[in-house]
Amino acid sequence: MSGVPRGVVATANPHKLTEIRAILDEHGVAVELVAMTELGLDSPPEDGDSFEANALIKARACAAATGSVAIADDSGLAVDVLHGAPGVYSARYAGPEADDDANNAKLLAEVAEVPAERRTARFVCAAAAVAPGGHELVLRGEMTGHLVDRPRGTNGFGYDPLFVADATSDGRTNGELAPEEKDAISHRGAAFRAVAEHLPALLSEDPAGS
Ligand code: IMP
Repeated sequence: MSGVPRGVVATANPHKLTEIRAILDEHGVAVELVAMTELGLDSPPEDGDSFEANALIKARACAAATGSVAIADDSGLAVDVLHGAPGVYSARYAGPEADDDANNAKLLAEVAEVPAERRTARFVCAAAAVAPGGHELVLRGEMTGHLVDRPRGTNGFGYDPLFVADATSDGRTNGELAPEEKDAISHRGAAFRAVAEHLPALLSEDPAGS
């Protein structure tokens, strides 16, 4: 044993693992991260009614299955004029098999009559860390902005081509930002930076996996 605690990330997405690892490194958090899928584990159904609930469902299941500290996130887009939709249904807004293009087309149709100044929206990410002994935390990051009326840019994923972040001064959509420009202002980065601040305390209170 190296003495460095192990953390399991409840994701099948290698990009998320890399991003989380980089953020924890920046904060000097000593934890050896592995993806749940590397251990042959599947994610549980995400049937919570909030981003926080879904992040905790995934992290709790992963902590229970592995006996290690587990980290998970859940994210999506909340459009003000649609009362927070697509929200926790972001990945399947246009149906269970919907892809990004279908979801974006549905969103554009929903806001077609809405004037530009009322197209405000935010990306939300809840990031959770759960220790097998029961300590847990869940923290939220947000990226505020507005929707444009046609997709622009091919970077990123999901609703990125339709969203201009308030933190972007030149009107480019997230789909037109370089990956590092988006990471610096993203909801996911903010949520995981907040988790990184609190993770050392959780690891020392409940250091399973070391
Ligand atoms: P997940 O919880 O990170 O898997 O995200 C769920 C869904 O929210 C994705 O399938 C996307 O539709 C949307 N989403 C979350 N984060 C982003 C983002 O950074 N850009 C664009 N879409 C996102």
